[in-house]
Amino acid sequence: MNLPNEGLAWAAIEARLISLKGNDIDWRSGRAAVYTYFRDDDLLDVSRRAYQLYFQENMLGKRVFPSLEQMERDVVDMAGDIFRAPDAAAGVFTSGGTESIFLAVLAARQRAYARGFRTDVKPQIVACETLHGAFNKAGYFLGVDVLRTPMGADFKASAGAIESAISDRTIMIAASAPSYTHGVFDPIQSLGEIAKQRDLWFHVDACVGGFLAPFMPAAGYQVPAFDLSVPGVVSLSADIHKYGMAAKGASVVMFRSAEERAYTTFEFSEWPRGTYATSTFGGTRPAGSLASAWAVLHFLGRKGYVENVRTIMQTRDRLVAGIKQIKGVSVVAPGESCMLLYKSDDERVDIDAVAEQLGKRGWYVGRAERPKAIHLALNTVHQAIVENYLGDLREVVEQVTSLKLVGVADDRTY
Ligand SMILES: *Cc1c(COP(=O)(O)O)cnc(C)c1O
Repeated sequence: MNLPNEGLAWAAIEARLISLKGNDIDWRSGRAAVYTYFRDDDLLDVSRRAYQLYFQENMLGKRVFPSLEQMERDVVDMAGDIFRAPDAAAGVFTSGGTESIFLAVLAARQRAYARGFRTDVKPQIVACETLHGAFNKAGYFLGVDVLRTPMGADFKASAGAIESAISDRTIMIAASAPSYTHGVFDPIQSLGEIAKQRDLWFHVDACVGGFLAPFMPAAGYQVPAFDLSVPGVVSLSADIHKYGMAAKGASVVMFRSAEERAYTTFEFSEWPRGTYATSTFGGTRPAGSLASAWAVLHFLGRKGYVENVRTIMQTRDRLVAGIKQIKGVSVVAPGESCMLLYKSDDERVDIDAVAEQLGKRGWYVGRAERPKAIHLALNTVHQAIVENYLGDLREVVEQVTSLKLVGVADDRTY
């Protein structure tokens, strides 16, 4: 496509933008359980209006826009309250989980260097294999390896395996609370003790569950201690654009103190224009996602998040009960949060075929590899689809089983 010579009118542009969406999944319908986090139109409206109010501002220029400095302080403060940080101000608002993790890895590496870590040795993070791939991405940029230990039968990190893997190259241990892969909590308390004993940086990745887990007890679901109140935890990442329910481009990384946070700052002072200093990966940054985060946190409040958790967990409970009634598939246990995985437990039921058939019925099907399963990241919107989904799943499993019985399952012609 070439740049049009004559600009188009908005009406034509809008029509094209809308028609471009034609083949996208309808996230509003609950037919996907990944990528979008949608509660209802009231919340979406608040998020969008806040974003639009700050559409044009630039987070790089906080001196020019004290509003942004204030909102960032407020959002970080609220995160400090939610995650029981000893210093509620020691955080950074970022564009997403990847950037929050990037900053934590950077800070851990810089602290190691400041303490005399040898520059001829490649630093290393030790974590369970379920840790999010963003750590490897950060490591790729920052010259840090990630050593992954096997998950246990419960899909959690083994504190013993992590401890054994620690070497003099290790600068950080990291864990998930909960994991995106299986929705379970790594043993944060035991890992915190190990980190403390060895004076290592310990990062808790609460990107996906950071705005669910703190509210689970109030909704009647127990979670292990995982936040900055656990001794040994040095930093924690949590995405406001996931279950925080704000516009995309919103996450926080919290540090135990301002001292650790300071390692995120990059400063270059030999520029003819003067000193250039930032604490994030980006330079020019949108302010809309910050305004959305600020607004959504205020709009939902503690009670709103508790309500979200209750809806999501009840939806999960209903789906689990329904799947248990379907012969041939079973729920992958344990499930400690919003993730729901189910697999085949009958050789006549090919889970790939189930996924394919669900796809044909208009469901976007997320997949897991170990175990081979169908993976759903449930949200409030899914309360409306439970019966529909279970009905389709029941029919699909029957269809796949009967085809297998007459011996035509492997050519995938159904
Ligand atoms: C989503 C996620 C990330 C990465 O966050 P992005 O916002 O996609 O950059 C990291 N860790 C976990 C556990 C996640 O779920």
